Amino acid sequence: MSADKSTKIETRLAHAGRSPRDHHGVVNPPVYHASTILQPSLAAWEAAGKPGYDGYLYGRFGTPTTRSFETAIAELYGADDAVAVSSGLAAIAVAMTAHTKTGDHVLVTDSAYFPCRKFCETVLRKYGVAISYYDPTVGAGIADLIRPETSLIVTESPGSVTFEIQDIPAIVAAAHARGVKVMTDNTWATALYFNPLDHGVDVVVEAATKYISGHSDVMIGLVAGRGTDTPRLRATAGALGNCSGPDDLYLAQRGLRTMAVRIARNQANGLALARWLQTRPEVARVLHPALPDHPGHALWQRDFRGASGLFSIVLHPVEKPALAAFLDGLKLFGMGASWGGYESLIMPADPRALRSATSWDMPGQLLRIHAGLEDPGDLIADLESGFERLAQAGSRPHMSP
Ligand SMILES: *Cc1c(COP(=O)(O)O)cnc(C)c1O
Repeated sequence: MSADKSTKIETRLAHAGRSPRDHHGVVNPPVYHASTILQPSLAAWEAAGKPGYDGYLYGRFGTPTTRSFETAIAELYGADDAVAVSSGLAAIAVAMTAHTKTGDHVLVTDSAYFPCRKFCETVLRKYGVAISYYDPTVGAGIADLIRPETSLIVTESPGSVTFEIQDIPAIVAAAHARGVKVMTDNTWATALYFNPLDHGVDVVVEAATKYISGHSDVMIGLVAGRGTDTPRLRATAGALGNCSGPDDLYLAQRGLRTMAVRIARNQANGLALARWLQTRPEVARVLHPALPDHPGHALWQRDFRGASGLFSIVLHPVEKPALAAFLDGLKLFGMGASWGGYESLIMPADPRALRSATSWDMPGQLLRIHAGLEDPGDLIADLESGFERLAQAGSRPHMSP
């Protein structure tokens, strides 16, 4: 089963990668638990070891459960291949390893997901890959930062804490003029709202842990590419021993089927919260690219089909006890890492500790908010009570021990 390419992505999300007729009519593909996969004959055994073999060889290289998810992802991105790996970070590591060798130089956006930076610093550097970080809003100016040995430019748009939108087509044009590949972390938008490959990007990674899975109970990542270097992605994941488990593959694939309606709701709730937060005197800035006063709004409007439910706010400076009173009493917003699930989250972050090429000069606390699927009025009421607690705690004299 598969909806043809002329259909909208919402339609393809429901159909891509499924083949009920191969499974007795069962709608969802079955979960294959496997390490050993038996070959029926010597001839088959020998064929399975040869390059280009596209059957099933060993659990680590995938089962029909793996392949149906990967087929769906490749179809959604219009990719030549998509590989499912153990987490979003593993997807970053596989894509970057596939596109670098000793002596190469990599340009990484200063707004990158922090563990990506850690991978660069602790692993790639050790193998003689030079890394430099660049201003996420550099656009065509990236051309001045490209060196003869630059092999890869890493983008993430918007940055998942500070929400700068990158001019991906301008970066791709400058990169390709010098034979440099471009990678995009597309976790925020998903294939639904932005397809980096359609804008010339060579490799896209996504933490399927987030919106694709959608229920905060799965770790899975994906790497997808277009062009002649794409086979390197699967080869690298295979060489590194990276794969993902059958139940997570199944759940991620099930999540795909409802992703369009969930993200539409995350988007609506996110915008309702962002607009309300803009009216609050406690809030200095709302960092949401779909708001007209966001510095990246025009680029977002040009390139994206929508916004997901993740954005940040910066409070006016408050004392720690007032911040704690605000956060600790929230009933609907959990404090925790990750996002993309059905539930709302709020998390403090300090961009100063996360960047090196650019500075962050807003003095107040940054809070990253994920708008879940709850009733938006209930979410606003929860935050409103939080601001009352914050005001009360702020007006009480702070007792030092
Ligand atoms: C969460 C996240 C990742 C990593 O995904 P995991 O599955 O948690 O490893 C990568 N990039 C972005 C932007 C993320 O938010």
